[in-house]
Amino acid sequence: MAWQIKFSSIRFFAGLLAAVCLLNAGGVRAQQAAVGPSFATGKAASEAEFIAAADEVLSKMSEITGLKLRTPLKKSLRSREEIRAYVIKQMNEEKTLAERYAGARSAEAFGLIPKGFDLDAFIVNVLTEQVEGLYDPKAREFYIADWSPLSEQRMVMAHELTHALEDQHFQIEAWLKAARPNDDAELARDAVLEGSAMVAMIDYLMLGTGRSLRDLPEFDPSMLIGDLGSTPTLQNAPPFLKDTLIFPYLGGLTFSAAILKDSGWSGLPGLFEKPPVSSQQILHPGLYRSGRSSQSVALPSLEKLLGNNWSLLDENVMGEFGWKEVLKQFLDDTRAKSLAASWAGDRYALYEERNSKRMVLVIFRRPNLFSFDTPEGGVFLYCFGVECMTMEGTTRKVFDGLTKAIEWPMAPQPTQRLEPAARAKTAMIFGFAESNLAAGEVVLSPHFLQSQGI
Ligand SMILES: [Zn+2]
Repeated sequence: MAWQIKFSSIRFFAGLLAAVCLLNAGGVRAQQAAVGPSFATGKAASEAEFIAAADEVLSKMSEITGLKLRTPLKKSLRSREEIRAYVIKQMNEEKTLAERYAGARSAEAFGLIPKGFDLDAFIVNVLTEQVEGLYDPKAREFYIADWSPLSEQRMVMAHELTHALEDQHFQIEAWLKAARPNDDAELARDAVLEGSAMVAMIDYLMLGTGRSLRDLPEFDPSMLIGDLGSTPTLQNAPPFLKDTLIFPYLGGLTFSAAILKDSGWSGLPGLFEKPPVSSQQILHPGLYRSGRSSQSVALPSLEKLLGNNWSLLDENVMGEFGWKEVLKQFLDDTRAKSLAASWAGDRYALYEERNSKRMVLVIFRRPNLFSFDTPEGGVFLYCFGVECMTMEGTTRKVFDGLTKAIEWPMAPQPTQRLEPAARAKTAMIFGFAESNLAAGEVVLSPHFLQSQGI
């Protein structure tokens, strides 16, 4: 899916994070100036200053993370044009034109980007605007934007050099790609890379204070989010793209901080040996700790059924992050979040008719009960074995009565009650119901939601 088009192949540090990190870390920096990194200068660095600062930060990051530098690192200052050229080259190498087309069409089919949205141009523009530093795992080289003042560069270095050190120990590009073809699992690994680099960066900023991120009882990563609307390209971007840009950094930060809290940095190799398998495990670190993962969902091929002119464009897993983005189109954030959390596995396939470019989107997801309220009453869709039943305009009590009458197992009960006063049309997918997972699958799509007036 499009969220893997993607920012994931490029290890970068975005200006929108840098700006806010500097703001929030201001108090910390003032305390540690004598011991830790110097943030005194506001002007762009010379090449010599840059190299000296990079070596100093690298040795600090090695101390923080416990990862030794195994081979010397290439480092250079790059202009905006050079960074833009790198982004374009990387995008072309990472995915073929056909693969990028398929990803964009999938995002379009789910309603996540407008029809005809130029995703490639968006990615190039946003990265050119936002990138403050890059680590290129192919060339094993890191770049810093030459327009940034040295004070900001040090923080960006802390982030990028963590990628470099992790790469020398864990071969990050091969490790990331080992999750393929599961996009959701790849997103989870991306969140480990970006999240651990964020934790290391914050530890760097706190050097000399005698504290680290582990000591902060309730760190709220949302305080790192800047005003995403403040940059030209992001100003009018679909919310999905903003969320996709941010998720590996902030979702990954919360996850990595939670996992490393008990073990400290000695727990880092464990994250690479046993990576999280889904965005759900990133969003709920407890599920990663307990090893709870979703069941895989199989989808039969529809090519023969659809006819000669149709071909499979894309087939993959949405995951909890993807579902949250889909549901946010119809529901408020809180409800979309809680509904998406009930995810227990899915698979989608997108077919395209060659001439007309018409699309058919097929989605299977678990759990097997889907229900929502409308002003005219509840709507229930429940599948068992090879059969599904629907009831509309009624209550859960009546639905349960029918379930009993036809001698089906009772459907899972809702994990959260909707407020009785909620007048808005609302949807609910009931929580984990493992006993029912094998019973059947619900086919649902945004078009289905729309047709139900949500
Ligand atoms: Zn990064």
